[in-house]
Amino acid sequence: MAQTYAEVILDIPLSEPLVYLAPNAAEVRPGTRCVVPLGRATRVGLIVGESGPPAFAASRIKPITRILGEVGPLSKHWLQLTQFAADYYQHGWGEVALASLPRILRMVPGVRSTQSLARLRKSHSIPWSEPATAAVELTAEQSSAVDRLNQSSGFAPHLLFGITGSGKTEVYLAAIAQKLAADAMAQALLLVPEINLTPQLEAQLRARFPGQTVVAMHSNLADGERAGAWLAAHEGRARIVIGTRLAVFCSLPHLALIVVDEEHDPSYKGSEGVRYSARDIAVKRAQLLDIPIVLGSATPSLETWAQASVERYRLIRLANRIGAAGASNELPPIELIDTRTHKPRNGLTEPVALALAATLERGEQSLVFLNRRGYAPVVACETCGWLSHCPRCSVFAVFHKPDRTLRCHHCGYMAPAPRSCPTCGNQALKGVGQGTQRIEETLQGLLPGSTIARIDRDSTRQRHSAQRAFDAVHAGAVDVLVGTQMVAKGHDFQRMSLVIVLNPDGQLASHDFRAPERLFATLMQVAGRAGRSGLRSRVLVQTRFPSHPLFAALQRHDYAQFAETQLAERAAARMPPFTYQALLTAEARSMESALAFLRAAHEEAAEALDAADSVVRLFDPVPMTLQQIAGVARAQLLIESDQRPQLHAFLRRWLTALRARRASPRWNIEVDPLQL
Ligand SMILES: [Zn+2]
Ligand SMILES: [Zn+2]
Repeated sequence: MAQTYAEVILDIPLSEPLVYLAPNAAEVRPGTRCVVPLGRATRVGLIVGESGPPAFAASRIKPITRILGEVGPLSKHWLQLTQFAADYYQHGWGEVALASLPRILRMVPGVRSTQSLARLRKSHSIPWSEPATAAVELTAEQSSAVDRLNQSSGFAPHLLFGITGSGKTEVYLAAIAQKLAADAMAQALLLVPEINLTPQLEAQLRARFPGQTVVAMHSNLADGERAGAWLAAHEGRARIVIGTRLAVFCSLPHLALIVVDEEHDPSYKGSEGVRYSARDIAVKRAQLLDIPIVLGSATPSLETWAQASVERYRLIRLANRIGAAGASNELPPIELIDTRTHKPRNGLTEPVALALAATLERGEQSLVFLNRRGYAPVVACETCGWLSHCPRCSVFAVFHKPDRTLRCHHCGYMAPAPRSCPTCGNQALKGVGQGTQRIEETLQGLLPGSTIARIDRDSTRQRHSAQRAFDAVHAGAVDVLVGTQMVAKGHDFQRMSLVIVLNPDGQLASHDFRAPERLFATLMQVAGRAGRSGLRSRVLVQTRFPSHPLFAALQRHDYAQFAETQLAERAAARMPPFTYQALLTAEARSMESALAFLRAAHEEAAEALDAADSVVRLFDPVPMTLQQIAGVARAQLLIESDQRPQLHAFLRRWLTALRARRASPRWNIEVDPLQL
């Protein structure tokens, strides 16, 4: 009797599927989960196709233990997408595909699992009933944007370039509404960069689409919630999925439109595991499905901007603010406060202190933005020069006042802050510099009787605490909000008329060639929190470098010009997006062995580079900027090419050779790295 063999992928670093004996041909449906033996363990795998009889050792092929048919197969398109991502980012197919499934579906199921799937299915079987809100009336500019989106068919990438407060969200919602109305099965995927933005948008979507199931997908969901949401999307019950980067791989069999909000945001690129860019994968997904995609931003990434300028992406502009903000129709002026002439006291200059007091006087809200949490970035002894180094990393441990600890923000090291200098016994240790906790304290002294709230990773550790804090600001219960990056994005604070930016100078001085682009985006975004409801507003930026060209462009609110200048510089210096990069990183006990591995890899590369690959260049191995984290030394080797196909072909050959090496330290490859 002829045997049937199946190709199965597993969450292991193998580029080729493994072959197993299948129970019968009828059950070998690509995209079906199954349980298979792997070594001594049993694992959940995914059938990706039928295999011919193995060329040798057929007797050693093991049978599939069980087919998990209670969840319908993943689509061919989904398999194609995960395979593409795995090839592109140089990882195993199963590492991408299996890792993207909810944990419950990756675990070998026990006896009661069928029941639990039934329970999970119930969680999203009935749409939420929320008071419906009618669609907001669109401005002429918004309507024409929606029309242009709706007219497109097939694969059509659009860049929705809209200043902060121009109403991009309404354009997304209108475009989604049109797609859902046109086809009773159609599904839409809306990606956002930040978990904290999902509750707000989720509520907005539910109110806007009553009777439709909307599900959220992000890493803060409990396993059951995530699996329930995933099943609702996979089985077509959920018409709209809103989520962070991991949602880009969600199974959506009737996907008709993808929206990527704040497409420039670096958090779309992961920093662990397979380091894929959810934005780039979203574009690929739209291309494979032949559907439109909208990338929205006030400060598009230079990669996206470059695509739009050669008209590979269609550019749609929203140049005006909407609603009350539009009445004055102007972005708030950005004023630079030179900290060389206005000496800061406890981090705040006099003009800033006066502006805060005046805003409080008028009963309006202020935002103080500082991208540094904790109380003081470093503790110092002025007698002997002792500094609070993290014992395990090449960075300082930060002083946190509420529990008087020193904490490392990179490895999690935490210890009670010393009362006296560990080296010389000096009792007068000093916290140097400003973190959000210290600014909060300074403001309490400066503005007695006012309500000051702080939002950063430390103040929002508890579940839902971030949401509660944001709700308080929205409700007007807060006079001054102090916060990090977390407060910069998305929120529409109605009574906010003053935005203060403290100390952007660190980023101006960074060696990373993307630092100006990121700083510009952050500052535009923070500045955009001011004056959204038409209140006369101001933005004050404290800096030692007021004549830096970046600020000139910022003051003109002229992203387009900034982007053009940056792109011209990158083109001249042969940097991305005009070249393509990959980064090989190694982690070892000592810097010497990390570098030794990279040097060996460098030599190996010389062999893998044949004549056709002469366009691929390898740089010398160097220690990373953060040389050591958690006691592990880190080094990197940059690979660059003017041709993407050559780069990828080279990587495939080279990494195969590297994987075959024995006794290597831990290493990782990142394609299109964002941080160097
Ligand atoms: Zn000392
Ligand atoms: Zn550390």
